Amino acid sequence: MSALSGTFPAGGKRPLLGLAASEIAALLPSSPAYTARQIRAFCFAGKDIDGMTSLSKSLRAALNEEYVANPVSVMRVYPSRDGSKKYLFSLLDGNLIEGVFMPHDYGNTLCVSTQIGCRMHCAFCASGADGLVRDLHFSEILGQVVAVNAAEGGSVKERAVTNIVLMGSGEPLDNYDNVMRFLDEVSAKDGLAVSERNISLSTSGLADRMKRFADSGRKVTLSVSLHSPFDEERSKLMPVNRKYDIATIIDAAKYYFKRTGRRVIFEYTLIAGVNDTPACAEKLASLTRGFPSHVNLIRLNPTDASLRRPTEDAAKTFLTRLSALGVSATIRHSFGEDVEGACGQLRRRVIAESGKGGDGEGGGTHEERKRKGSKFTTA
Ligand code: SF4
Repeated sequence: MSALSGTFPAGGKRPLLGLAASEIAALLPSSPAYTARQIRAFCFAGKDIDGMTSLSKSLRAALNEEYVANPVSVMRVYPSRDGSKKYLFSLLDGNLIEGVFMPHDYGNTLCVSTQIGCRMHCAFCASGADGLVRDLHFSEILGQVVAVNAAEGGSVKERAVTNIVLMGSGEPLDNYDNVMRFLDEVSAKDGLAVSERNISLSTSGLADRMKRFADSGRKVTLSVSLHSPFDEERSKLMPVNRKYDIATIIDAAKYYFKRTGRRVIFEYTLIAGVNDTPACAEKLASLTRGFPSHVNLIRLNPTDASLRRPTEDAAKTFLTRLSALGVSATIRHSFGEDVEGACGQLRRRVIAESGKGGDGEGGGTHEERKRKGSKFTTA
């Protein structure tokens, strides 16, 4: 089993999903090599071990003793009026995570989580406030995609999940090795064969890791959560800015473009009176000038805290200002607002309703992410 971080219950079952055929073959020394390839394919198709009917009963029974196919189970699905669906998943250790399935004209996007909780402590994100619980193992990131693809009627060849965004719970570049292995497996020809160009990874701006990622040769779209063009303000919203200031992040974003040829996306959540001023538009334009990039504007959702959502007109005015300054930008629609689309809200509510506490029991408040109603894109 992989030495990558991410925990499974001690003495509990281990996941087969995402293991290379050679790794599966090593677990089954007395089976022919093609059996390992079959098992790998079954796992990506969303089969559980009992559903791998071309395997002998005795082999299935032996596998069932120690393994599961997918360590991620769909616990509940919450459809939204806008067509998106919020998925609540349970993990082998009882922890809960969330994903959002969003249908588009061009395909269907799934937003996945990469950690339970987060150590970045962004002011608008309750997950940050409660800290990191643990990294997700690559099979747990992959498991979200496989589970939703199967639940939505997709297969390996005709995928229901065509696009993936790593914008759920967690900072993907803080769980670097598992996320890289996830990217390799989800895009593998004998995996789900999702093109790297259809995958976006969102970061709070870990500049060193952004450069390392650029050097890795992958062609994934990089999104950087900026949220303010001024260091003082951004540091209040995102403490990570004290380590990697805006100039350092922009430098890393330019490097990412230089190495990959992929334009960088900047996520910018508009907060009334905080970061939607003409001065902010001008500073944002000066930062993003000179290299291919795009700014996604997202209006903050109604919140129970002090930060206010700008009106639609105010957002349009900000967009017009940016456009006049030569910035490529759009206002992005938020999905699933009626089903607690912001990451962590649903999980938090379900845990509260179940009255559970403690991480190992799927409880605790560590993953109280994006402040209630807020719609920040996860870094
Ligand atoms: S917004 Fe992203 S980086 Fe910030 S605390 Fe939340 S999950 Fe972590």
